[in-house]
Amino acid sequence: MSKQTDDFFKSVVSHAKEYGFVFQSSEIYDGLSAVYDYGQLGSELKNNLKTYWWKSMVQLHENIVGIDAAIFMHPTTWKASGHVDGFNDPMIDNKDSKKRYRADQLIEDKIARYEGDGKTAEAAALLEALNTALNADDLAGLKSIIEEHNIVCPVSGTKNWTEVRQFNLMFATQMGAMADGADQVYLRPETAQGIFVNFLNVQKTGRMKIPFGIAQIGKAFRNEVIARQFIMRMREFEQMEMQFFCRPGTELEWYNKWKETRLKWHLALGFDPANYRYHDHDKLAHYANAAVDIEFNFPFGFKEVEGIHSRTDFDLKQHQEYSKKKMQYFDPEINQNYIPYVIETSIGLDRLFLTVLCNSLVTEDLSTAEKQDSRVVLKFPPALAPVKAAILPLTKKDGLPEKAREILNTLKLDYNVQYDEKDAIGKRYRRQDAIGTPICITVDYDSLEDNTVTIRHRDTMEQERVAIGDLERIVNDLAGWNTLLKKLI
Ligand code: ATP
Repeated sequence: MSKQTDDFFKSVVSHAKEYGFVFQSSEIYDGLSAVYDYGQLGSELKNNLKTYWWKSMVQLHENIVGIDAAIFMHPTTWKASGHVDGFNDPMIDNKDSKKRYRADQLIEDKIARYEGDGKTAEAAALLEALNTALNADDLAGLKSIIEEHNIVCPVSGTKNWTEVRQFNLMFATQMGAMADGADQVYLRPETAQGIFVNFLNVQKTGRMKIPFGIAQIGKAFRNEVIARQFIMRMREFEQMEMQFFCRPGTELEWYNKWKETRLKWHLALGFDPANYRYHDHDKLAHYANAAVDIEFNFPFGFKEVEGIHSRTDFDLKQHQEYSKKKMQYFDPEINQNYIPYVIETSIGLDRLFLTVLCNSLVTEDLSTAEKQDSRVVLKFPPALAPVKAAILPLTKKDGLPEKAREILNTLKLDYNVQYDEKDAIGKRYRRQDAIGTPICITVDYDSLEDNTVTIRHRDTMEQERVAIGDLERIVNDLAGWNTLLKKLI
């Protein structure tokens, strides 16, 4: 099955549910729109993705440290960052279908259709008109574009549109017992500001010298106008962000370095490089002087997974102004005080999770002349696999389970491993294929005599006989963090 189809995407979503990767939140109450829970295998995969990111940022870089800031922040943070006034999406409703859309996305879809039809001049002109309207916050202009280009509602097929309105994406709530406006706080819409407000705390207590970075993994919340495509666009999601502080004037050099480093990080997972690309921003955010997305070819097309932004000194300067606290760094090498410039790398953990699922899920035809057969496999990079090895006694008796548990008890100190004695061995292999376990270790009668076992490899289905004493090394060589991290240095 081609991976660029709705059917493939549906199979990813149903596989994720069937095997305990992702569930709809509060499903027994019919779910909550665009909110998802990670199940027993999903949370393992997610933790492994976080570990991969954290180790590659913090452990492999002498000049990057990590923090864990609170979700709630002083409300002035969001005034200073521009989110209270500017974190809006232009929305529009179709009066017939009662469906709500992002006006800019309706226009982007039209541009893609022009491109698909070979109308490149029309596509370029429309893109320019869109950028002009967005840069000028011209909501009436967006509406005119939608009308002029005969953009219809995908559901009702009509052009019966409301005006375009701005919609702030931040969730607000009350802190403390008083329910008046003074106590209003926000669920953070990005993790970055927790890093900016702690810039000097970390720099001073960690005796950090510029250039240096601060990394963080945490939840972010956005009241997305339209939330769809599974865990692609959620209202509660997780970000992995790193802000890299550098000397003014050097930022574009660092921007290019991080742009390259981050793509290399994605490609080190070993998936097809043709499904990854850069997308340079046409419309720069008010704080940025360069920005690029790393896009992945999802079943619904190339979409952003990670953003790399040169944010200038905008955020620190704003916090200096609003807090009246100096956000400056004294650079002993040039004997000067300055507000550092910042390069941000910001990746959505849930989107990354989806790229890994889409890349890994395959159905293989194993039919022979005699019989029809196929298997569903999650070909995860071994270091990311939720279960690293399954230990399978050939039978449930004669001391084989005890021998298998001995192996389990050694390997479980370092890895998440599973024991399974139910059903025929072939069926157990298939169960492990479907959850992406890189190797199955089968304990048989010979194992009791000569302390060897059979390893069956997920991807090739090949089998080999190895000594039990070698298992720790074999699992480590295949699925250990060092094997993956070595590709980055
Ligand atoms: P988009 O244009 O798709 O809305 P964005 O440009 O607003 O994304 P950023 O603010 O740059 O996104 O956030 C950084 C990363 O956080 C994105 O690259 C994406 O992976 C992730 N992200 C942003 N919004 C969501 C969301 N609603 N659900 C899941 N992940 C998200």
